[in-house]
Amino acid sequence: MHSFPHEIVGAPGIGLLTLTRGEGVYVWDVEGKRYFDAYSGLSVVGVGHGRTEIAEAAAAQMKQLAFVSPVGCTTPVTVELASKLASIAPGDLNRVFFSNSGSEAVEMALAIAKQYHYNRGERDRKKVICRIGSYHGQTAGAETVTRHSIRPPREPLGIGAIPVQGVDCYLCPYEKTYPDCNVYCARSIEAYIHAEHPEMIAAIIAEPISTANGGYVPPVEYWQTLRKLCDRFGILLIADEVLNGLGRTGKWFGIEHFGVVPDIIATSKHLTCGYAPISATIVRDKVYDAFTKGIDSLFAVGSTFGGHPVSCAAALANLAIIEREGLVENAARMGEYLMAKLKPLVETNPIVGDVRGIGLMTSIQFVKDKRTRTPFTFAEARMLGVRIHGILRQMGILVPHSFGALALHPPLCVTREQIDEMVAGVETALRMVAG
Ligand code: PMP
Repeated sequence: MHSFPHEIVGAPGIGLLTLTRGEGVYVWDVEGKRYFDAYSGLSVVGVGHGRTEIAEAAAAQMKQLAFVSPVGCTTPVTVELASKLASIAPGDLNRVFFSNSGSEAVEMALAIAKQYHYNRGERDRKKVICRIGSYHGQTAGAETVTRHSIRPPREPLGIGAIPVQGVDCYLCPYEKTYPDCNVYCARSIEAYIHAEHPEMIAAIIAEPISTANGGYVPPVEYWQTLRKLCDRFGILLIADEVLNGLGRTGKWFGIEHFGVVPDIIATSKHLTCGYAPISATIVRDKVYDAFTKGIDSLFAVGSTFGGHPVSCAAALANLAIIEREGLVENAARMGEYLMAKLKPLVETNPIVGDVRGIGLMTSIQFVKDKRTRTPFTFAEARMLGVRIHGILRQMGILVPHSFGALALHPPLCVTREQIDEMVAGVETALRMVAG
């Protein structure tokens, strides 16, 4: 073992799985055992494994021109991918900054938000409202130790994160009930804005539907309230679509379910469906315009491999498959089918408290006591997650280990028969752990 082990490797009876090939929704390990990839790698492999069309597009680009400096140069595939993204992104989100991972796309979204305000003369707007329990990545610090000359528009670099409660209509942190609550979880953010001073807040960041935060699908008014708060207080709205984006939720972008246009979108995973790393930060025209007011307004942030031609070629081939095979629509249709198959677990399995989701993003929530909706403690939930992961792996179904909820995100190309196969395995595993 020469790499850092992921946490689960240390769990009893579970070792690192070495996979060698894949086709469609299946992958095979070194010993030839087949697994159903019920989480699309890490909610990535939307078009399925083994798509030679994408490999060929990437190889052709690599043979023709593998790399150019991103400083002052670009390539036709990079330009084509940017305009493709502009055409499918909502509203006037027309300008794209490419980087290599979801974390970087989020990092760029935060940097752009801070410098947008700086360029417009609002130099104190540096804090960002986020939601407790969300996941947006793990980069920390590279620009902090980078030379001073280019940093000021984004300083201080450690943002003042203002964590607020997220959306949880099953176990509401405010002990309220929808719709009587009138989305108090969103309305209550106004108090944080006042407490932290509106003129010091750069952005609100949230995933349209957050898996890390339990997979709750917020009521439409939730996002509309966030949009209104941002407009009222001059704050930018960032949608983290690293996981939601490009088909997973049954629409091109998760935010489309809520009828609002964010100012910035960060996206990554389904952009190449894992065939090569890439991410994109897409901004509205008005955000971009703030960076076109002369040399001092430029976004002096680089990414050596951002917009890498090989990744862009892979992304274009991948998006062509998604469109040609109607995989966004398939995610919506198969998502409804999957939800209908999982819902009965709430009645039949003693530890399943709730089943929720949208498109091919579903979460099965476990509780100790259904009547009182008492969750498992962190330690119990962790052990349960490891057990479920282990049992399913033995049965030939791959899922991430989870804390308190099991997320199923099969590839966007999944069929009804394959969903039947996956759900049958999950039902058996959950019966076993419920004892
Ligand atoms: N945002 C969200 C919503 C994510 O799910 C993830 C990764 N799971 C990230 C950001 C970070 O992406 P990456 O791991 O590619 O840096």
